Amino acid sequence: GPTVVIIGAGIVGCALADELTGRGWTDVTVLDRGPLFVTGGSTSHAPGLVFQIHPSRTLSRLARYTAEKYAGLGCFSPVGSLEVATTPARLAELHRRFGFGQSWGVPSSVLDPAACATLYPLLDKSVISGGLYVPSDGLLPAVRAAETQAARATSRGARFLGDRAVTRVLSRAGRVTGVATADEEFRADLVVSCAGFWGPAIAAMTGVPIPLLPMAHQYVRTTPAGASDGLPILCHPDRDLYFRAHGDRLGIGSYRHEPMPVDLADLPGDDHPSKLPFTPDTFRQSWAASAELIPALRGATPEEAFNGVLSFTPDGFPLLGEAASLRGLWVAEAVRAAHSAGAAKAVAEWMADGRPAIDLHECDLNRFDAAQLSPDYVRRRAVRTFVEIHDIVHPADPPPVRNVRVSPFHPRQAELGAVFGEAAGWERPLWYATNPPPESPRPRDEWSSRHWSPIAETEARATRRRVALYDMTPLTRIDVTGPVAFLSGLVAGDVDRPAGTVVHTVMLDPAGGVRGDVTVARLGEDRFRIGGNGPLDVDWLRRHAPPGVSVRDVTGGTCGVGLWGPAARELLAPLTEVDVSAEGFRWFRAREGHVGTVPVVMLRLSGVGELGWEIHTEAQYGLRLWDTLWEAGREHGLIAAGHAAFDSLRLEKGHRAWGRDVTGEDDPYQAGLLPAGDRAPERWLTCLVLADTGDVPLGGEPVYAGGFPVGHVTSAAYGWSVGAPIAYAWLPSALAVPGTQVEIGYFDRLLLATVATEPLFDPRHQRPRR
Ligand code: FAD
Repeated sequence: GPTVVIIGAGIVGCALADELTGRGWTDVTVLDRGPLFVTGGSTSHAPGLVFQIHPSRTLSRLARYTAEKYAGLGCFSPVGSLEVATTPARLAELHRRFGFGQSWGVPSSVLDPAACATLYPLLDKSVISGGLYVPSDGLLPAVRAAETQAARATSRGARFLGDRAVTRVLSRAGRVTGVATADEEFRADLVVSCAGFWGPAIAAMTGVPIPLLPMAHQYVRTTPAGASDGLPILCHPDRDLYFRAHGDRLGIGSYRHEPMPVDLADLPGDDHPSKLPFTPDTFRQSWAASAELIPALRGATPEEAFNGVLSFTPDGFPLLGEAASLRGLWVAEAVRAAHSAGAAKAVAEWMADGRPAIDLHECDLNRFDAAQLSPDYVRRRAVRTFVEIHDIVHPADPPPVRNVRVSPFHPRQAELGAVFGEAAGWERPLWYATNPPPESPRPRDEWSSRHWSPIAETEARATRRRVALYDMTPLTRIDVTGPVAFLSGLVAGDVDRPAGTVVHTVMLDPAGGVRGDVTVARLGEDRFRIGGNGPLDVDWLRRHAPPGVSVRDVTGGTCGVGLWGPAARELLAPLTEVDVSAEGFRWFRAREGHVGTVPVVMLRLSGVGELGWEIHTEAQYGLRLWDTLWEAGREHGLIAAGHAAFDSLRLEKGHRAWGRDVTGEDDPYQAGLLPAGDRAPERWLTCLVLADTGDVPLGGEPVYAGGFPVGHVTSAAYGWSVGAPIAYAWLPSALAVPGTQVEIGYFDRLLLATVATEPLFDPRHQRPRR
């Protein structure tokens, strides 16, 4: 194997050395600025609580593997976890979390207060309304887990060197060649930064952005409080507190204090740089709340207390992967101890096999837009991540930093009363308040009604009946120039078609996983416009581009609309010299021309399954494009429509969304993205139609058959053309048969659903081809 240097011998660096040497890469050197293995990093002070249930399947799986692996190494106590609720909203949230556990394979149960007190006798059960019990959660002794993995890695040939602060990362021609300390150099083919919250210092050495913010968090050990070592770990999210036993004492962690960002330059210069002086004032409230939940604490006091430093990222997910701008530099940072072994395994697979075995797109180092890497953005969003760590967060709750990326249509949208959501920094209209609500809207549950409006129905129906204008600017547009062979080698479909052809296909990784879902428009012999899903598509193309091929992300400098509906052709024809007749401009064709005075690229395709075009232009012409279409649209009943309508129409047509319905670990055949032929896979992405009860899932919910969890919902929306909620779910192939009855877990309810033949609307795709 290659020569690998790992920076950092915390739990993540040690786990990675173990995973790499376990794969036969034995030339591994791990360097740490501190002494081994109480290095003074976060690991040295982590109380090691492992909660496996998370809305993210990926984070849940990282934690599951960590718990299982450390149990096998004698470094995990499965004492179980109890998360208590003190409000009705929290109790509902615990049911939702129970559902995630069912979806991701982490069994749990929602208990009443008496059952909680039986499990955790120190609790005052009159304070709580219930709890979520996860028997397989527990505690990992972080330093021992690091040391145990380091010992195994050493036995396979790795070496660990303490008191070696890396001061430089060496490189030549865009590739790492090694690292240097004050007086030594270590040559390496690959360097992995596992420097924890020192990430920004490694970023400064390399120029590779590592967007994390170190912040302090309070931890207290009490005097004896009647605890005992078998006690479950406890979370009191309504007060941002967690608890574990240290013998007869309790350890209390609190996030209920002002965020305390830490400047690396201000860290103590002793052996414990991540241990800052305790701030008792900010803990007083938390102590009172602790004693209210656990009355035995009234006779105890804090005995040992500190503010410990750990990493926070803009979206709360770790930073994993190879740097885009410096090949051979890998990063595994902002990883919780609870995810350490899982993250290390995934990174080791990625390094050794070219891809991780599980989907890591939420954790990918290269997932951010340039603006999202600004120190201002990182700080404001990371602080919010800290504040919200135990909040009940709706998947559509917008982040604190808004108006980072706006399309040129934004002022017109605002005039129309657009209500904006946020996607990858973009302001994206969800619906337009000036569109009238339907006369008798379908009743809908409170949770799925958040960041949603009945107006979506008006917009969806208008798209099917007349014509609607959608802002497609937030989609990623990438211009590729060079021989077609480059793209042919990356995608599944045949893109070597005549200029003027559009192909909807998938980019595949070396093992055949779906790396991206793209439309490739061939605009000239060597000129391609690609529609994709974000920075990861750009990164993937650039990584593979040979000399002579140019890959340009033109998203920010361009904009796009979707003009869709039966009246789209009549609206567009008088505005353009391009022949937009059915024969002159066929489905999945592209033309360059003008709309009014605006130079455009027109793609005849449809995200919503209707006649129409995606029309791109440069950002400078955006307003003019919108106004031209809007003006001409009056006589055709054109309305502006938002993402809520789009999502509904897309699911009626069975269009998959990459990152939600399909990811890198999925096979394009099983996902229904390529014709499956005579394959007999284990599982399918399946269309479900729900009983119309007013409940509409949002994604992540478990699917049950015969009372057993068998899969999970990826996307869902109400389909007005269908008259029922629609969900897509990964199901075992035996169940993915039309007519099969299943149930979806939604809070404390079970929603009846039936497997349906898809697409539900216009199955022969006649409408968009007209
Ligand atoms: P670290 O342990 O910080 O290791 C990074 C290493 O890199 C350090 O040893 C450092 O010395 C070394 N290093 C940095 N720069 C250089 C350089 N230039 N050259 C050489 N070496 C360098 N997580 C949980 O999962 N559950 C919990 O309950 C939990 N509670 C926590 C409570 C507290 C009070 C704190 C502080 C953290 C807690 N965490 C918890 C977080 C957890 O500690 C971290 O997520 C985890 O330890 C990170 O491991 P790491 O190896 O990435 O980082």
